[in-house]
Amino acid sequence: MEERYCDIKELELYFHIPFCVRKCFYCDFLSAPGDEKVKRKYMKALLTETVGSAFRYADYEVVSIFIGGGTPSTVPADCLEQLMEAVRMHYRLADGAEVTMEVNPGTVSGEALLRFRRAGINRLSIGLQSADEEELKAIGRIHTWQQFLESYAAARRAGFDNVNVDIMSTLPGQTLSGYRGTLHKVLSLEPPPEHISAYSLILEEGTVLSEKYEKGELTLPDEDTDREMYRETKEILAQAGYERYEISNYAKKGYECRHNCGYWKRKNYAGFGIGAASLVENVRFHNGTDLKAYLAEPLGCREEIQRLGEQEQMEEFLFLGLRMTEGVSCREFTRLFGCSMEDIYGEVIRKNIRDGLLWYRPGPGEIHMRNGRCKADGKYTDSGRDAESPGSGEDAELSVTCQDAESPGSGQDTKSSGSGQDTEPSGSGQDTKSLGSSQDMKSLGSNQDAESPGSGQGMEPSGSGKHAGDITACDRFLALTDRGLDVSNYVMAQFLL
Ligand code: SF4
Repeated sequence: MEERYCDIKELELYFHIPFCVRKCFYCDFLSAPGDEKVKRKYMKALLTETVGSAFRYADYEVVSIFIGGGTPSTVPADCLEQLMEAVRMHYRLADGAEVTMEVNPGTVSGEALLRFRRAGINRLSIGLQSADEEELKAIGRIHTWQQFLESYAAARRAGFDNVNVDIMSTLPGQTLSGYRGTLHKVLSLEPPPEHISAYSLILEEGTVLSEKYEKGELTLPDEDTDREMYRETKEILAQAGYERYEISNYAKKGYECRHNCGYWKRKNYAGFGIGAASLVENVRFHNGTDLKAYLAEPLGCREEIQRLGEQEQMEEFLFLGLRMTEGVSCREFTRLFGCSMEDIYGEVIRKNIRDGLLWYRPGPGEIHMRNGRCKADGKYTDSGRDAESPGSGEDAELSVTCQDAESPGSGQDTKSSGSGQDTEPSGSGQDTKSLGSSQDMKSLGSNQDAESPGSGQGMEPSGSGKHAGDITACDRFLALTDRGLDVSNYVMAQFLL
């Protein structure tokens, strides 16, 4: 089959470790407590699957690895050492490959961290969620802020110089100043983390918090507070030198999570362990979730093999790519599918541009959204469409057009987004949660006019008018609105053919 997305055969690996000390109150990931015996059996099965599958990927170079879960740091260190050794022996591991492991405070010793580092793990993702003890208790986390500090310091001592910290907003009992406190405490770490993932709590069915909510026993911050938390996250982190490169992900320059970017760009990835998903040459498949069956036959658990047709590939190209602030390339779309985005999505693109939810940049050069500003040919110009930085749109450099005069947008944005933040993804591209849940769509529907989400603040920030409505003449990049998950999901849903 023709290789459509990658010129070179790059592969990402994901390993799912489904063990946690105990279940957090908001979590519906595939994870549960397990004793050491079960963990060792599982890691042995994982090794069998990894080694036994290697022949399928003989032509690939592994460019990133993500060991997620669950809490991988709850399994014995020697099991993870063996796993890394097996990858090195049986796969072609690229020099400088990014190798991330998720850890939770209270589950790792300094010695274990040293062993992980020596085993080749070079990036840690630490689940903090909040620096406030009451908030931590309210969501059932097993650790304190102090334990996080100890784990963080131990990680730095062990030599980890690429660390992500996960935080959450809209938690039970959380106030704006409490959330701000968490942000500032994280930024005051020495040295501060290279990467911060900031998610908004989403109540997943079947979780403790969701049940409490149903019974009226849970008080959550209201929608305005939620939106303000998102706005402040962007503002405070931008001031501290972090760039938002995806809806909920912020990084110092050069520290974007390569593994997750690969997922949003539809690189090939192979997942191992129960429930782990894979996408290889446009075939999606995943392992079953039955632990017993997996332990018995780790190489026999593949399920739901789905070969993606061209239409599905196009849809994924758009709705995954649009999560990233750099947007998607119209030119790349044409290269991959042999037709222009205009041909397939002209109408929906124009509608969303009219609504102020998409941008594009005509002429040579690339466009990137950065804090509501567009970069074109190395220059930044106000997009004029970001709720927080409306901009004058006076810069003639930015000639976003699509001047379908019939519906130029109202020029005012009042309530275009809901939470604007995402629920905690596995970091692996392994589950649909990271694509935004139906809940997100519902919450969008509940606070927005379905026909015109966000009014767009004016259609012509500085339009040259040269390419009115002619997207093919303007095709470089589409860029996602800066307004967060609800709006993003709304836009993405429209690209489903
Ligand atoms: S949120 Fe993370 S640490 Fe908590 S139960 Fe779920 S996977 Fe485990």
